[in-house]
Amino acid sequence: METKPKALVTGAARGIGAACAQRLARDGYHVLVHYHQSKAAAQQVLESVTASGGSGELMRFDVSDEAEVEQVLNPWLETHGPLSALVLNAGIRADALLAMMLSEEWHKVISVNLDSFFYITKPVVKGMLLARAGKIVAITSVSGVTGMPGQVNYSASKAGVIGAVKALAQEVAKRKVTVNAVAPGFIETDMLSGLDQNQLAQIVPLGRIGTPAEVASAVAFLLSPAAAYITGQVLEINGGIHL
Ligand code: NAP
Repeated sequence: METKPKALVTGAARGIGAACAQRLARDGYHVLVHYHQSKAAAQQVLESVTASGGSGELMRFDVSDEAEVEQVLNPWLETHGPLSALVLNAGIRADALLAMMLSEEWHKVISVNLDSFFYITKPVVKGMLLARAGKIVAITSVSGVTGMPGQVNYSASKAGVIGAVKALAQEVAKRKVTVNAVAPGFIETDMLSGLDQNQLAQIVPLGRIGTPAEVASAVAFLLSPAAAYITGQVLEINGGIHL
């Protein structure tokens, strides 16, 4: 594993994160399959990675808990050295009209989706700066680009991530570290549970919901040498719902 480039994918037990972990392992990364609650699912992702000839390991922390992130991530980085790639994927939604939104719904979503950017990226980017190499991709959302009614908290968190990506990209470009965002539209994962997917598909110009693998392809591209001159960008993967 020491000879392979290392990639951390947060929220890699399910959905888009799992697809990214599997794809990056196929692309030759040693993948840190991060999870929080879904231990069994994370183990399955790791098994599928190793079964297809790749390598990886599990890592667990709550992305919204700064002390926990430090306790787990810092010793790993000290022992194994800098990451080549970071995919900030873990995220939640807690939808409600703002007039009805609970304080916990606001703070939890901001904390998991946006505060985590600071907690995780800070130690990781320090190593990348010293190595003068590294690529970061944050998964934001079409909601963060356009704003979405019923998702004021989620839209704010995802727009915040876009601002952070654009600012950090400028801070670290001189050291050859790139920072980009991927903004999916409707993707077939647990996050869409409770929503009528057929109805959603009708408002998508391409006429269907996207797959986690399709998001993973874009992430893999932004982490590849082919994207070496792309930084501070938001790549939208949404079947045409926002242009
Ligand atoms: P998902 O299937 O619901 O997965 C969410 C992931 O986030 C899980 O792996 C979960 O880990 C992790 N997570 C949640 N809270 C966490 C916490 N406090 N600490 C650590 N990990 C935590 O959702 P998904 O659709 O794959 O979403 C992945 C990303 O894509 C999110 O950032 C989401 O906002 C974004 N996105 C999704 C869509 C879509 O339509 N699906 C559209 C736009 C953007 P555990 O299960 O281990 O707890």
